[in-house]
Amino acid sequence: MPFPNPFQTAPSDVASPDKAAPAAAPVRERDWYVHEWMLLAFAAGMMLLIYFVARHEADLGQSEIIRDAAVVEQSISRKLEADQQFFDRLALDLGSDRISSADFDRIASKRAVESGYVTDILRINSDFDVIRHAPGAKSLEVVKQSRGPFADQARVMGFTEKTNRSTYSQPYRNQSGRFFIEYAAPVFANETFLGTVNAVISFDLLLEKSAPDWASRKYRVVITDINGQGMTNAEAMHLESGVVKHTVPLALPWRDLQITLVGAKPSTVLPNLTLSTAVLALTGLMVWTSIGLRKQQRMRKRAEVDRDRMYAQSLNILRDTKERFETVLDSLDVSVYVSDLKTNELLFCNSHLHETFADLEIGKNALQFEHGFLQSPSDKYPARSLLTIEGEPGEVFKDELEHRATHRWFLMRTRAVRWVDGGLARLTTLGDVTDRVYAERIRQTQQEKLMRTSRLMTVGEIASTLAHEINQPLAAIANYVSGCIRRLKGNGNVDTAVIGAMEKADAQVVRAGAIISRVREFVRTREPQRRALDVNALVATVVTLVASDDEERALHCTLKLQTDLPPVFADHIMIEQVLVNFLRNAREAMQHLAPADRIAEIRTSRLDASHALVEVADLGSGIPPEVASQLFSPFFTTKAEGMGMGLNICRSLIEYHEGNLTFEQNTPVGTVFCFTLPFDEGLSAL
Ligand code: ADP
Repeated sequence: MPFPNPFQTAPSDVASPDKAAPAAAPVRERDWYVHEWMLLAFAAGMMLLIYFVARHEADLGQSEIIRDAAVVEQSISRKLEADQQFFDRLALDLGSDRISSADFDRIASKRAVESGYVTDILRINSDFDVIRHAPGAKSLEVVKQSRGPFADQARVMGFTEKTNRSTYSQPYRNQSGRFFIEYAAPVFANETFLGTVNAVISFDLLLEKSAPDWASRKYRVVITDINGQGMTNAEAMHLESGVVKHTVPLALPWRDLQITLVGAKPSTVLPNLTLSTAVLALTGLMVWTSIGLRKQQRMRKRAEVDRDRMYAQSLNILRDTKERFETVLDSLDVSVYVSDLKTNELLFCNSHLHETFADLEIGKNALQFEHGFLQSPSDKYPARSLLTIEGEPGEVFKDELEHRATHRWFLMRTRAVRWVDGGLARLTTLGDVTDRVYAERIRQTQQEKLMRTSRLMTVGEIASTLAHEINQPLAAIANYVSGCIRRLKGNGNVDTAVIGAMEKADAQVVRAGAIISRVREFVRTREPQRRALDVNALVATVVTLVASDDEERALHCTLKLQTDLPPVFADHIMIEQVLVNFLRNAREAMQHLAPADRIAEIRTSRLDASHALVEVADLGSGIPPEVASQLFSPFFTTKAEGMGMGLNICRSLIEYHEGNLTFEQNTPVGTVFCFTLPFDEGLSAL
């Protein structure tokens, strides 16, 4: 399975640097207006609907009251008609003496009680006097007074007498302010007019008893005159607005009376409270819901805008991070690549790797690339060696490898890592260390050369010491042998064989001397080559030569070098040899100290106008007086494996350079070995 490259994002995913983050879409205010106008239109529509329903209901209410008024009028008329017939009959019976006065009282009282609205039934004679009345509870005087002024009496009497027909009086008000009307039926006895029977009808009671109950509950029912003047329940006649009313004439002989029904007007604004409330509530709910939805929509849009902005920001951050990451990786002067641990497919490589190994591309097999080294890292450290027993990334391996084609050396570090998709990959870095490797090689060569020179010098010194020491006895032997030969020859009788042998011995002695000089000549293969030398640079070189990774051989050198020293006139190999010897002795003198405490200080300075001074101070064991006296003797050593020639040779070398080699005690501990060297005359003269 190919690993995704975390640093390569699909072009569409990552905005180009100059492509700004997508602008946040503004909330479209126009939409808002359209929406709100629609809501307003809806609410207005609902109001209109309510209005029209109200209008319709009002119309319905009007036609209903007309119908109801007719029913009420009929109900009252029927009752009155029945009464008219009754009283006509009563008058007839009275005239014809079919009933007695006592019967009249009884029948009339009963009728009054039954009707409920006929308050009094009066027998009035032709002189307008009330002669009887029923029911008889009230006295006649009271009845007369309660009728009040009755101007219409004459008209009624005249009419009934002339026409022999019953009639109604004009309505009148009694003392308590209530309206009454009287029905007058003529009483004739054999053509003689005897007066009338008057039924006193209370308008209030008439309505109360004869208007249907439902009508009384539904309407205010009033009896009015032709001018609309109320005759019942007077205060109700102030017909307020907001009511419906309908008036129908009362079908009585007295035509001026009419019935008026007054009902609550169905409101044109709120025709039906339940319906209106429901519609209003629904409209309100809708508006509220709609506003809520609108709010939500706006919030959602804002959230979307925020999300887009954040998305764009995170894309920018991602892009920046990627750029930073790539910039850092690409600016490294180390090649970095990541390969799949199983398939060895190259998943990522930085530009340094591209530049160094041009043919490398993502997707290629990393093994092919790694086989370009003398020892492939994946061969040396197979996948499983990079993992722990649990299969997790483990150790880091590092190695120095030579590239076959370029012959350059690389410090390779390789380790397993968890890649972005959670899979395992190998992360390898390659740093070019060619210069260091070559420098190391040169240093090694130099060190070896120094060692060889040192050995040769030692042998040469031994040879010269031997020659010096042996030449004396050899010369003595040669003298003695020559003397012996001369004497033997002077005697004359000496065996010539003895003389021959002696001469051979002499020749061998000479030969031995020659051999020694030849050996000396042989080891002194190299003639000193003196030239102008920067002694500080020489010190720095020696310090690198003696540096060692081995803890046993560790020595820390601190330098105090005078910067403006003129060059010295010297053979650099010889002076290096002296310094190496000093530093080796210093390290051996500090062997008992911890590696970090083994510190040698190397100082250079101007001793006088013509000499430089070089000092090596250590913190070692120091030199006791008995040792000090023999220090420069050949073969003197205090070490088990020492040769005792080092200081001897060093002194010879320095003296050869017309310098001095001395030592003194260091403070507080240790020894300071120093030597002087002459400045290069040609240059120092400048
Ligand atoms: P080798 O090192 O083989 O013994 P050298 O001639 O270099 O021969 O040194 C002779 C002796 O001088 C050493 O064995 C040691 O006892 C003494 N010596 C030399 N350098 C030092 C020093 N820096 N501190 C103490 N003793 C020293």
